[in-house]
This record gives sequence, C-alpha cells and structure tokens, in this order.
Amino acid sequence: MKPDSAADRYPHLTVGVLAVQGDFIEHIAILGRLGVAGREVRLPEQLDGLDGLIIPGGESTTLSRLMSLYGLREPVAQMARENKAVWGTCAGMIMMAHEITEEDPVPLQMMDIGVQRNAFGRQVDSFEQDLDIADFDSAPFHAIFIRAPVIIRVGDDLKVLARLPDGRPVAVRQDRMMATSFHPELTNDLRFHRYFLDLASAPPGTRQ
Ligand code: GLN
Repeated sequence: MKPDSAADRYPHLTVGVLAVQGDFIEHIAILGRLGVAGREVRLPEQLDGLDGLIIPGGESTTLSRLMSLYGLREPVAQMARENKAVWGTCAGMIMMAHEITEEDPVPLQMMDIGVQRNAFGRQVDSFEQDLDIADFDSAPFHAIFIRAPVIIRVGDDLKVLARLPDGRPVAVRQDRMMATSFHPELTNDLRFHRYFLDLASAPPGTRQ
C-alpha cells in the first residue's frame, strides 16, 4: 500500500507494538502506512530506544499473564514513569488503568483512570459508533467497540478526548499517554495513529 502523505513527518520515530497477544499486526500495518517501521515487542530489551509503545487489544487476562511470563510488566510500567508515549487500545487500556472493577488482571497503573471490563451487555458486545474527538478536525471518528471496556473514573490531570452519547468517556489522554476503549487500527481512519505519533514526537510535559 502507498504510504500516507504524512509519512515524511515521522521517519525519525521508533515505535514498538506489544506483540505477545492481540491485534498487533493491524497497528504495525497502520504505522507502516505512516512511514514508521513498528517494532514487535516480546522481550524487555526490545523496549530499549523506543519513542513510543502501543499496547493492542486482545484479552487482558491473557495479555497480563504473558507480560508477567516475559518480564514485561515492570519495564512497560516504567515507561509511564519516564513520561514516554504509550497508547493502549481496548485490552491495552485495561492494562494501563490505575484500577479496574475486577481482581484479574492486575493493571499496570500507568494512567490515572478506573476501568470496567466488558462494560456493554451481551446484545451490544460489539458495536460501532460515530464519535466527536476533541483535538481532531470536525469529521466524526467511526469507532469500533469489541467487548469493550469503559472508563469509570478520570483523574484531574487527564483530558477526555471522546465520550459515548450517554456521556461515558471512551478515549483519554494524560500528557503523552493515551487510552481508547475502541479499535482505530481496524479502520482506515489514521487520525488516532497520527495523533499518537505527534505525541511521541513531542517533548514530555509539552502537551496539556
Ligand atoms: N474484553 C477484553 C478484555 O477484557 C477486551 C476486548 C478487546 O481488546 N477487544 O480484555
């Protein structure tokens, strides 16, 4: 596929995608369209030198177990303390939370949010919804929710980027970290990936 016209904006970036479980291939494909060679991360040393990390969707209990097994929990959590750019989608958002409503998985406490897993009843396990995104142009973003979590507590320092029509937040940013309940990597709309690459390009503390 032809690279996106914005490709030349990000050639300097090295972005990792956690590749132990879930839909990491789709994120890497979109990064490629934006001119960024995404690095598959399965081992702690593969985090070295990254400008940003994406934690994909999948199944958070499995993701959590595999992260423990490969020694990834602590070094990934450390990226938040170092103010690196990190983005969690769906199960990735659950892993980045400070607390969740269940005992398992134990989240990494990277962002000041509380999250409820599988927040939508069975009939709407999966659904699609056009959302207005703060910080984006006016065109709505077509968001795909798959057994999605929802954010039930948002810390004071966070910016809510998107809410469902009922007001519940489903996309938030805390300085250079971001979490989305839904899956931008399953659409052809590259705005979230571009937004994340802009965060990864920006010096820490400059994005409020
Ligand atoms: N329901 C999954 C979980 O709780 C998340 C689903 C997803 O990532 N699409 O981990």
